[in-house]
Amino acid sequence: MLCAEIVAIGSELLTPDKTDTNSLWLTAALNEIGIEVKLKTTVGDDELRLEETIRDALSRSDIVITTGGLGPTEDDITRKVSAKALDRELVFKEELLEELRERFRAYGYEMPETNRSQAYVISGATILPNPNGSAVGMLVETDKKLLIVLPGPPREMKPMFRDHILPKLNETAPEIYVKRKTLKVSGMGESALDELIAPIYTAYKNPQTATLFNKTAIDIQLTAQGKTEEDADSLNQELAQKISEKLGVAVFSTIGEKMEEVVGKLLTQTGKTLSVAESCTGGLIGERLTNVSGSSKYFFEGAITYSNEAKTRALGVPKDLIDKHGAVSAEVAESMAVGMRERAKTDYAISVTGVAGPTGGTEEKPVGTVFVGYAVNSETRSLRLNLPGDRNLIRWRSSQAALDYLRRKILEAGDE
Ligand code: AMP
Ligand code: MG
Repeated sequence: MLCAEIVAIGSELLTPDKTDTNSLWLTAALNEIGIEVKLKTTVGDDELRLEETIRDALSRSDIVITTGGLGPTEDDITRKVSAKALDRELVFKEELLEELRERFRAYGYEMPETNRSQAYVISGATILPNPNGSAVGMLVETDKKLLIVLPGPPREMKPMFRDHILPKLNETAPEIYVKRKTLKVSGMGESALDELIAPIYTAYKNPQTATLFNKTAIDIQLTAQGKTEEDADSLNQELAQKISEKLGVAVFSTIGEKMEEVVGKLLTQTGKTLSVAESCTGGLIGERLTNVSGSSKYFFEGAITYSNEAKTRALGVPKDLIDKHGAVSAEVAESMAVGMRERAKTDYAISVTGVAGPTGGTEEKPVGTVFVGYAVNSETRSLRLNLPGDRNLIRWRSSQAALDYLRRKILEAGDE
Protein backbone atom coordinates (compact mmCIF):
# COMPACT_ATOMS: atom_id res chain seq x y z
CA MET A 1 0.00 0.00 0.00
CA LEU A 2 1.31 3.43 -0.92
CA CYS A 3 1.84 5.76 2.00
CA ALA A 4 1.41 9.48 1.91
CA GLU A 5 2.26 12.37 4.16
CA ILE A 6 0.86 15.87 4.27
CA VAL A 7 2.64 19.10 5.09
CA ALA A 8 0.35 22.05 5.91
CA ILE A 9 2.31 25.26 5.50
CA GLY A 10 1.49 28.63 7.07
CA SER A 11 2.23 30.33 10.39
CA GLU A 12 -1.48 31.15 10.80
CA LEU A 13 -2.15 27.41 11.11
CA LEU A 14 -0.12 27.35 14.32
CA THR A 15 -2.42 29.93 15.96
CA PRO A 16 -5.78 29.20 17.56
CA ASP A 17 -7.49 31.32 14.89
CA LYS A 18 -7.01 29.08 11.88
CA THR A 19 -7.40 25.33 11.59
CA ASP A 20 -5.68 23.16 9.01
CA THR A 21 -8.68 21.61 7.28
CA ASN A 22 -6.83 20.81 4.05
CA SER A 23 -5.09 17.77 5.50
CA LEU A 24 -8.38 16.33 6.74
CA TRP A 25 -9.98 16.66 3.34
CA LEU A 26 -6.89 15.28 1.59
CA THR A 27 -6.68 12.32 3.98
CA ALA A 28 -10.29 11.37 3.27
CA ALA A 29 -9.71 11.67 -0.50
CA LEU A 30 -6.51 9.59 -0.35
CA ASN A 31 -8.07 6.91 1.88
CA GLU A 32 -10.83 6.48 -0.63
CA ILE A 33 -8.36 5.30 -3.24
CA GLY A 34 -6.47 3.09 -0.82
CA ILE A 35 -3.58 5.40 0.02
CA GLU A 36 -2.80 5.63 3.70
CA VAL A 37 -1.74 8.88 5.33
CA LYS A 38 0.88 8.05 7.93
CA LEU A 39 1.89 11.50 9.10
CA LYS A 40 0.98 15.14 8.83
CA THR A 41 2.96 18.14 9.85
CA THR A 42 2.05 21.77 10.28
CA VAL A 43 4.97 24.10 9.60
CA GLY A 44 5.10 27.88 9.99
CA ASP A 45 6.53 30.14 7.29
CA ASP A 46 10.07 29.26 8.26
CA GLU A 47 12.60 28.32 5.58
CA LEU A 48 14.87 26.06 7.60
CA ARG A 49 12.13 24.06 9.22
CA LEU A 50 10.16 23.72 6.02
CA GLU A 51 13.17 22.50 4.05
CA GLU A 52 13.98 19.96 6.73
CA THR A 53 10.34 18.82 6.85
CA ILE A 54 10.08 18.30 3.08
CA ARG A 55 13.42 16.46 2.91
CA ASP A 56 12.41 14.15 5.77
CA ALA A 57 8.99 13.59 4.28
CA LEU A 58 10.43 12.60 0.91
CA SER A 59 12.87 10.22 2.55
CA ARG A 60 10.15 8.22 4.29
CA SER A 61 6.90 8.53 2.28
CA ASP A 62 5.93 7.61 -1.29
CA ILE A 63 3.76 10.65 -1.74
CA VAL A 64 4.27 14.04 -0.11
CA ILE A 65 1.61 16.70 -0.45
CA THR A 66 2.14 20.26 0.68
CA THR A 67 -0.53 22.95 0.86
CA GLY A 68 -0.08 26.69 1.32
CA GLY A 69 2.67 29.24 0.96
CA LEU A 70 2.33 29.72 -2.80
CA GLY A 71 1.11 33.33 -2.63
CA PRO A 72 3.07 36.30 -4.02
CA THR A 73 4.24 37.77 -0.69
CA GLU A 74 7.54 37.52 1.21
CA ASP A 75 6.20 34.92 3.64
CA ASP A 76 5.16 32.59 0.82
CA ILE A 77 8.25 30.40 0.66
CA THR A 78 6.98 27.01 -0.48
CA ARG A 79 8.08 27.43 -4.11
CA LYS A 80 11.63 28.37 -3.24
CA VAL A 81 12.07 25.97 -0.33
CA SER A 82 10.59 22.90 -2.00
CA ALA A 83 12.95 23.43 -4.95
CA LYS A 84 15.84 23.60 -2.49
CA ALA A 85 14.71 20.46 -0.66
CA LEU A 86 14.76 18.64 -4.02
CA ASP A 87 18.14 20.16 -4.94
CA ARG A 88 16.57 21.70 -8.02
CA GLU A 89 16.43 25.18 -9.48
CA LEU A 90 13.42 27.43 -9.86
CA VAL A 91 12.83 28.27 -13.50
CA PHE A 92 11.02 31.28 -14.87
CA LYS A 93 8.08 30.58 -17.19
CA GLU A 94 7.28 33.41 -19.54
CA GLU A 95 3.90 31.88 -20.40
CA LEU A 96 2.89 31.78 -16.73
CA LEU A 97 3.77 35.45 -16.37
CA GLU A 98 1.61 36.23 -19.40
CA GLU A 99 -1.29 34.27 -17.92
CA LEU A 100 -0.93 36.12 -14.63
CA ARG A 101 -0.91 39.49 -16.42
CA GLU A 102 -3.98 38.44 -18.37
CA ARG A 103 -5.74 37.33 -15.20
CA PHE A 104 -5.25 40.74 -13.62
CA ARG A 105 -6.23 42.57 -16.82
CA ALA A 106 -9.48 40.58 -16.94
CA TYR A 107 -10.35 42.14 -13.56
CA GLY A 108 -9.27 45.60 -14.78
CA TYR A 109 -5.94 45.78 -12.91
CA GLU A 110 -2.27 45.92 -13.79
CA MET A 111 -0.39 42.96 -12.30
CA PRO A 112 1.63 44.08 -9.23
CA GLU A 113 5.33 43.25 -9.61
CA THR A 114 5.23 41.02 -6.51
CA ASN A 115 3.13 38.49 -8.41
CA ARG A 116 6.09 37.90 -10.74
CA SER A 117 7.35 35.32 -8.21
CA GLN A 118 4.36 33.13 -9.09
CA ALA A 119 5.76 32.62 -12.60
CA TYR A 120 8.66 30.56 -11.17
CA VAL A 121 8.29 26.80 -10.91
CA ILE A 122 10.49 23.92 -9.80
CA SER A 123 12.64 22.67 -12.67
CA GLY A 124 11.14 19.56 -14.23
CA ALA A 125 7.78 19.94 -12.44
CA THR A 126 4.45 19.35 -14.11
CA ILE A 127 2.47 22.57 -13.77
CA LEU A 128 -1.03 22.21 -12.31
CA PRO A 129 -3.33 24.96 -13.54
CA ASN A 130 -5.39 26.92 -11.01
CA PRO A 131 -8.61 28.30 -12.48
CA ASN A 132 -9.59 29.68 -9.06
CA GLY A 133 -6.48 31.65 -8.13
CA SER A 134 -3.13 33.01 -9.20
CA ALA A 135 -0.87 30.28 -7.76
CA VAL A 136 -0.30 27.25 -9.97
CA GLY A 137 0.45 23.93 -8.28
CA MET A 138 3.32 21.57 -9.09
CA LEU A 139 3.88 17.86 -9.36
CA VAL A 140 7.43 16.53 -9.19
CA GLU A 141 8.44 12.91 -9.68
CA THR A 142 11.75 12.03 -8.14
CA ASP A 143 13.33 8.69 -7.16
CA LYS A 144 9.98 6.91 -7.35
CA LYS A 145 8.57 9.54 -5.01
CA LEU A 146 5.95 12.16 -5.73
CA LEU A 147 6.02 15.69 -4.37
CA ILE A 148 2.75 17.49 -4.89
CA VAL A 149 2.66 21.20 -4.14
CA LEU A 150 -0.82 22.69 -3.80
CA PRO A 151 -2.15 26.16 -2.93
CA GLY A 152 -3.55 26.85 0.58
CA PRO A 153 -7.07 28.14 -0.02
CA PRO A 154 -9.38 25.12 0.06
CA ARG A 155 -11.43 26.36 -2.88
CA GLU A 156 -8.26 26.32 -5.01
CA MET A 157 -6.65 23.23 -3.51
CA LYS A 158 -9.62 20.86 -3.78
CA PRO A 159 -10.42 21.19 -7.50
CA MET A 160 -6.72 21.05 -8.35
CA PHE A 161 -6.34 17.81 -6.42
CA ARG A 162 -9.53 16.35 -7.87
CA ASP A 163 -8.82 17.28 -11.50
CA HIS A 164 -5.06 16.78 -11.77
CA ILE A 165 -3.81 14.62 -8.90
CA LEU A 166 -6.51 12.00 -8.37
CA PRO A 167 -6.40 10.71 -11.96
CA LYS A 168 -2.62 10.44 -11.69
CA LEU A 169 -2.70 8.63 -8.34
CA ASN A 170 -5.42 6.31 -9.57
CA GLU A 171 -2.99 5.20 -12.29
CA THR A 172 -0.17 4.49 -9.84
CA ALA A 173 -2.04 3.17 -6.83
CA PRO A 174 -3.07 -0.46 -6.92
CA GLU A 175 -6.83 -0.90 -7.01
CA ILE A 176 -7.76 -0.92 -3.35
CA TYR A 177 -11.00 0.25 -1.84
CA VAL A 178 -11.19 1.49 1.71
CA LYS A 179 -14.54 1.48 3.47
CA ARG A 180 -15.51 2.48 6.99
CA LYS A 181 -18.26 1.28 9.24
CA THR A 182 -19.17 2.75 12.61
CA LEU A 183 -20.93 1.00 15.46
CA LYS A 184 -22.33 3.37 18.05
CA VAL A 185 -22.45 2.16 21.64
CA SER A 186 -24.01 3.62 24.76
CA GLY A 187 -24.29 2.75 28.40
CA MET A 188 -20.75 1.38 28.75
CA GLY A 189 -17.36 2.72 29.73
CA GLU A 190 -14.55 2.61 27.20
CA SER A 191 -12.38 0.14 29.09
CA ALA A 192 -15.26 -2.21 29.90
CA LEU A 193 -16.15 -2.14 26.22
CA ASP A 194 -12.61 -2.81 25.09
CA GLU A 195 -12.24 -5.73 27.48
CA LEU A 196 -15.24 -7.36 25.81
CA ILE A 197 -14.36 -6.74 22.19
CA ALA A 198 -10.54 -6.70 22.07
CA PRO A 199 -10.37 -10.51 21.84
CA ILE A 200 -12.59 -10.28 18.77
CA TYR A 201 -11.06 -7.43 16.82
CA THR A 202 -7.39 -8.16 17.57
CA ALA A 203 -7.83 -11.35 15.54
CA TYR A 204 -8.33 -9.14 12.46
CA LYS A 205 -5.62 -7.10 10.74
CA ASN A 206 -8.15 -6.07 8.13
CA PRO A 207 -10.47 -4.36 9.08
CA GLN A 208 -8.59 -2.16 11.52
CA THR A 209 -10.54 -1.19 14.62
CA ALA A 210 -10.48 2.11 16.49
CA THR A 211 -12.66 3.08 19.45
CA LEU A 212 -13.43 6.75 19.84
CA PHE A 213 -15.00 8.36 22.87
CA ASN A 214 -17.54 11.04 22.06
CA LYS A 215 -19.55 13.35 24.28
CA THR A 216 -22.23 10.76 24.94
CA ALA A 217 -21.36 7.60 23.05
CA ILE A 218 -18.50 5.39 21.97
CA ASP A 219 -17.88 4.90 18.28
CA ILE A 220 -16.26 1.66 17.18
CA GLN A 221 -14.81 2.48 13.81
CA LEU A 222 -13.93 -0.34 11.42
CA THR A 223 -11.80 0.36 8.37
CA ALA A 224 -11.50 -2.38 5.79
CA GLN A 225 -9.52 -2.61 2.56
CA GLY A 226 -10.66 -4.76 -0.30
CA LYS A 227 -10.13 -5.34 -3.98
CA THR A 228 -13.67 -4.12 -4.59
CA GLU A 229 -16.05 -1.97 -2.57
CA GLU A 230 -18.16 -5.06 -1.91
CA ASP A 231 -15.10 -6.90 -0.59
CA ALA A 232 -14.30 -4.11 1.84
CA ASP A 233 -17.94 -3.81 2.91
CA SER A 234 -18.30 -7.49 3.58
CA LEU A 235 -15.09 -7.59 5.65
CA ASN A 236 -16.53 -4.77 7.79
CA GLN A 237 -19.85 -6.53 7.96
CA GLU A 238 -18.33 -9.76 9.23
CA LEU A 239 -16.47 -8.09 12.09
CA ALA A 240 -19.38 -5.74 12.86
CA GLN A 241 -21.61 -8.76 13.23
CA LYS A 242 -19.29 -10.44 15.73
CA ILE A 243 -18.86 -7.27 17.79
CA SER A 244 -22.61 -6.56 17.75
CA GLU A 245 -23.37 -10.07 18.95
CA LYS A 246 -20.98 -9.62 21.87
CA LEU A 247 -22.29 -6.18 22.88
CA GLY A 248 -25.96 -6.89 22.26
CA VAL A 249 -28.34 -4.06 23.01
CA ALA A 250 -25.52 -1.65 23.90
CA VAL A 251 -24.99 -1.13 20.15
CA PHE A 252 -27.62 1.42 19.22
CA SER A 253 -26.68 1.98 15.60
CA THR A 254 -24.57 0.25 12.98
CA ILE A 255 -25.10 2.97 10.37
CA GLY A 256 -23.95 6.03 12.29
CA GLU A 257 -27.31 7.31 13.53
CA LYS A 258 -27.73 9.56 16.55
CA MET A 259 -29.59 8.23 19.59
CA GLU A 260 -32.57 10.53 18.95
CA GLU A 261 -32.84 9.19 15.40
CA VAL A 262 -32.80 5.59 16.62
CA VAL A 263 -35.47 6.34 19.24
CA GLY A 264 -37.53 8.15 16.60
CA LYS A 265 -37.34 5.16 14.27
CA LEU A 266 -38.41 2.75 17.01
CA LEU A 267 -41.37 4.95 17.97
CA THR A 268 -42.40 5.23 14.33
CA GLN A 269 -42.10 1.49 13.74
CA THR A 270 -44.15 0.65 16.80
CA GLY A 271 -46.63 3.51 16.25
CA LYS A 272 -46.06 4.86 19.77
CA THR A 273 -45.93 8.42 21.10
CA LEU A 274 -43.68 10.19 23.59
CA SER A 275 -43.65 13.15 25.94
CA VAL A 276 -40.76 14.40 28.07
CA ALA A 277 -40.51 16.17 31.44
CA GLU A 278 -37.15 17.79 31.97
CA SER A 279 -35.51 19.44 34.91
CA CYS A 280 -31.69 19.55 34.84
CA THR A 281 -31.52 18.97 31.06
CA GLY A 282 -33.50 22.19 30.52
CA GLY A 283 -35.12 21.16 27.24
CA LEU A 284 -32.14 19.37 25.74
CA ILE A 285 -34.04 16.12 25.21
CA GLY A 286 -36.86 17.97 23.48
CA GLU A 287 -34.32 19.85 21.37
CA ARG A 288 -32.62 16.63 20.32
CA LEU A 289 -35.86 14.83 19.54
CA THR A 290 -37.29 17.70 17.51
CA ASN A 291 -34.07 18.04 15.54
CA VAL A 292 -35.11 14.88 13.74
CA SER A 293 -37.33 15.55 10.78
CA GLY A 294 -40.71 13.85 11.07
CA SER A 295 -40.60 13.83 14.89
CA SER A 296 -44.03 15.48 15.17
CA LYS A 297 -45.52 12.07 14.42
CA TYR A 298 -44.35 10.62 17.72
CA PHE A 299 -43.14 13.46 19.95
CA PHE A 300 -46.14 15.30 21.40
CA GLU A 301 -45.01 17.51 24.21
CA GLY A 302 -42.20 18.50 26.52
CA ALA A 303 -42.18 20.43 29.78
CA ILE A 304 -39.21 22.13 31.39
CA THR A 305 -40.17 22.00 35.05
CA TYR A 306 -37.14 23.48 36.71
CA SER A 307 -38.58 24.65 40.04
CA ASN A 308 -40.35 22.49 42.58
CA GLU A 309 -43.50 24.59 42.10
CA ALA A 310 -43.46 23.89 38.36
CA LYS A 311 -43.13 20.16 38.97
CA THR A 312 -46.21 20.30 41.17
CA ARG A 313 -48.25 22.71 39.04
CA ALA A 314 -47.48 21.35 35.58
CA LEU A 315 -47.00 17.65 36.32
CA GLY A 316 -48.93 17.13 39.55
CA VAL A 317 -45.90 15.94 41.51
CA PRO A 318 -47.18 16.03 45.13
CA LYS A 319 -45.49 18.73 47.21
CA ASP A 320 -44.96 16.38 50.14
CA LEU A 321 -43.24 13.87 47.85
CA ILE A 322 -40.70 16.54 46.97
CA ASP A 323 -40.41 17.60 50.63
CA LYS A 324 -39.85 14.03 51.72
CA HIS A 325 -37.44 12.74 49.07
CA GLY A 326 -36.03 15.91 47.51
CA ALA A 327 -36.52 17.11 43.92
CA VAL A 328 -33.62 14.92 42.82
CA SER A 329 -34.95 11.48 43.71
CA ALA A 330 -36.30 8.34 42.14
CA GLU A 331 -39.77 9.09 43.51
CA VAL A 332 -39.93 12.55 41.96
CA ALA A 333 -38.50 11.34 38.63
CA GLU A 334 -41.19 8.67 38.44
CA SER A 335 -43.94 11.07 39.48
CA MET A 336 -42.77 13.56 36.81
CA ALA A 337 -42.97 10.87 34.14
CA VAL A 338 -46.42 9.70 35.25
CA GLY A 339 -47.73 13.30 35.38
CA MET A 340 -46.28 14.09 31.99
CA ARG A 341 -47.74 11.00 30.40
CA GLU A 342 -51.22 11.75 31.78
CA ARG A 343 -51.05 15.37 30.70
CA ALA A 344 -49.83 14.66 27.15
CA LYS A 345 -51.78 11.42 26.67
CA THR A 346 -48.81 9.65 25.14
CA ASP A 347 -47.79 6.01 25.25
CA TYR A 348 -44.46 6.77 26.88
CA ALA A 349 -43.11 9.57 29.01
CA ILE A 350 -39.57 10.03 30.21
CA SER A 351 -38.25 12.48 32.77
CA VAL A 352 -34.94 13.70 34.11
CA THR A 353 -34.08 15.32 37.42
CA GLY A 354 -30.53 15.68 38.67
CA VAL A 355 -27.65 17.79 39.97
CA ALA A 356 -25.71 19.16 36.99
CA GLY A 357 -23.39 21.25 39.21
CA PRO A 358 -20.95 22.68 39.80
CA THR A 359 -22.99 23.78 42.85
CA GLY A 360 -25.91 22.05 44.56
CA GLY A 361 -24.29 18.69 45.33
CA THR A 362 -24.63 17.06 48.76
CA GLU A 363 -22.91 14.10 50.35
CA GLU A 364 -25.90 11.90 49.66
CA LYS A 365 -26.49 13.30 46.18
CA PRO A 366 -23.24 14.67 44.77
CA VAL A 367 -22.92 16.56 41.48
CA GLY A 368 -23.71 14.13 38.67
CA THR A 369 -26.50 12.36 40.54
CA VAL A 370 -29.29 12.07 38.01
CA PHE A 371 -32.59 10.18 38.04
CA VAL A 372 -34.29 9.17 34.83
CA GLY A 373 -38.00 8.41 35.12
CA TYR A 374 -40.03 6.30 32.74
CA ALA A 375 -43.74 5.74 32.49
CA VAL A 376 -45.77 3.55 30.20
CA ASN A 377 -49.31 2.26 30.60
CA SER A 378 -48.38 -0.73 32.72
CA GLU A 379 -45.16 0.31 34.38
CA THR A 380 -43.34 3.15 36.11
CA ARG A 381 -39.62 2.94 36.59
CA SER A 382 -36.56 5.01 37.36
CA LEU A 383 -32.83 4.74 37.07
CA ARG A 384 -30.17 6.37 39.20
CA LEU A 385 -27.00 7.56 37.48
CA ASN A 386 -23.73 8.96 38.76
CA LEU A 387 -22.39 10.88 35.80
CA PRO A 388 -18.91 12.32 35.50
CA GLY A 389 -18.09 15.60 33.77
CA ASP A 390 -18.79 19.31 33.94
CA ARG A 391 -22.26 20.86 33.83
CA ASN A 392 -22.52 20.68 30.07
CA LEU A 393 -21.40 17.06 29.89
CA ILE A 394 -23.65 15.95 32.73
CA ARG A 395 -26.64 17.53 30.96
CA TRP A 396 -25.67 15.83 27.68
CA ARG A 397 -25.07 12.47 29.29
CA SER A 398 -28.39 12.74 31.17
CA SER A 399 -30.25 13.35 27.92
CA GLN A 400 -28.48 10.41 26.31
CA ALA A 401 -29.16 8.09 29.24
CA ALA A 402 -32.87 9.00 29.25
CA LEU A 403 -33.22 8.37 25.51
CA ASP A 404 -31.21 5.17 25.79
CA TYR A 405 -33.38 3.95 28.66
CA LEU A 406 -36.46 4.48 26.53
CA ARG A 407 -34.80 2.74 23.58
CA ARG A 408 -34.01 -0.33 25.67
CA LYS A 409 -37.55 -0.41 27.07
CA ILE A 410 -39.10 -0.24 23.59
CA LEU A 411 -36.82 -3.08 22.45
CA GLU A 412 -37.70 -5.16 25.51
CA ALA A 413 -41.40 -4.61 24.84
CA GLY A 414 -40.89 -5.74 21.27
CA ASP A 415 -39.19 -8.94 22.41
CA GLU A 416 -42.09 -9.94 24.65
P1 AMP B 1 -1.34 30.62 1.37
O1 AMP B 1 -1.39 29.69 0.20
O2 AMP B 1 -0.34 30.24 2.39
O3 AMP B 1 -1.22 32.04 0.94
O4 AMP B 1 -2.74 30.48 2.10
C1 AMP B 1 -3.84 31.24 1.71
C2 AMP B 1 -5.02 30.99 2.64
O5 AMP B 1 -5.42 29.63 2.50
C3 AMP B 1 -4.72 31.12 4.10
O6 AMP B 1 -4.90 32.41 4.59
C4 AMP B 1 -5.73 30.21 4.71
O7 AMP B 1 -6.94 30.93 4.89
C5 AMP B 1 -5.94 29.16 3.68
N1 AMP B 1 -5.20 27.95 4.08
C6 AMP B 1 -3.88 27.72 3.95
N2 AMP B 1 -3.54 26.49 4.39
C7 AMP B 1 -4.69 25.94 4.83
C8 AMP B 1 -5.00 24.68 5.43
N3 AMP B 1 -4.06 23.75 5.63
N4 AMP B 1 -6.29 24.46 5.79
C9 AMP B 1 -7.22 25.39 5.57
N5 AMP B 1 -6.99 26.57 5.02
C10 AMP B 1 -5.74 26.87 4.65
MG1 MG C 1 0.62 31.45 3.90
